[in-house]
Amino acid sequence: MPQAKDIYKTLFNEVPVAIVDFDYSGLSEIQQKLKGVERSEIRQYLYKHATQIKAVAKKFKVGLVNDTALSLYGVRTAANFSEALVRAYCGKSFDVFVEQLVSLLSGEGEFSGELKCSIARNRQQDIFIRVSVPKKYGTSLGHVLVTLQDITAWKRIERKLRKEAQIDGMTRLYNQSAILDKLDIELIRAKRYGLELSCMMIDLDFFKVINDKFGHQKGDQILKKVADMIKDCFRKVDVIGRYGGDEFVVILPETSARNANFAAQRLQKIFAKTLFRYKNVIKFYITLSIGIAGYSPKKAKDAKDLLALADNAMYDVKKAGRNAIKIAKI
Ligand code: GH3
Ligand code: MG
Repeated sequence: MPQAKDIYKTLFNEVPVAIVDFDYSGLSEIQQKLKGVERSEIRQYLYKHATQIKAVAKKFKVGLVNDTALSLYGVRTAANFSEALVRAYCGKSFDVFVEQLVSLLSGEGEFSGELKCSIARNRQQDIFIRVSVPKKYGTSLGHVLVTLQDITAWKRIERKLRKEAQIDGMTRLYNQSAILDKLDIELIRAKRYGLELSCMMIDLDFFKVINDKFGHQKGDQILKKVADMIKDCFRKVDVIGRYGGDEFVVILPETSARNANFAAQRLQKIFAKTLFRYKNVIKFYITLSIGIAGYSPKKAKDAKDLLALADNAMYDVKKAGRNAIKIAKI
């Protein structure tokens, strides 16, 4: 029969979470000094004394470390492990280290966050870290329980999903909600730095006819081609999205409505020269109705306001017979 001690030891070493018993008591002097101090002031103090804090951290000692922790960092000994973790604390993850100290020094006794570590074989890893002081130790920092989990794969998926959520599946351009977010950010920049900014609403003329004549599938193919043509026509810094249906938006940072108009004319010329084909028998051109709005602090408080101005200008073009450009009056 295995002894309870052996069972605990096996469980401790093989649980798929890195577990470390860290001695942070080197901080006790600072802890005394900051007793009863507000979190924000503790944070300020730690940043102000960053060099001292890093020097203290380099002397942190590790008590128990399980095997999962050693293999997570690709090291063999507790000392190597603490060196690697403290290197992360004092380097790229100093902000996270400060936040955990703010929690511990303000007596909260618990913190969780994410670390970036460059570890074995120089591979960058995302690590979920949880730091807590077991209740029986009160406010003493002699036994801080640190658990670490490798979340690199999860973070990769999360980044991918976040990016994907901004993209229109068919055209691979930004979707409506991403365009609104990006335009809001550009508006803030324009306001703060006194920059020019324009946006353009582009709607295909009589697109429904194409769908009706050649089918939805061909319609989709054409929308994809149109998206590529718009992308190729504008600068890398311009932000291009599909607003919905056959409607596209271009955000032109640091560009006046007058200059956006030149870009719109260039786009129309490209379309005027591009022959679309259906089964190589039917050939046709596509024309665009374009509305442009230049940013003016008086008329546009947010992205929706600016887009509404461009949209109204575009509808005026439709009413006036299509295949033209109109700049919204501001
Ligand atoms: P207008 O000149 O007034 O813009 O006429 P239009 O026919 O282009 O009409 P409108 O812009 O109001 O409608 C857009 C049409 O685009 C409606 C629909 O048939 C088509 N459409 C919208 N989304 C898609 C899509 O994802 N795929 C395809 N194939 N067609 C779409
Ligand atoms: Mg249309």
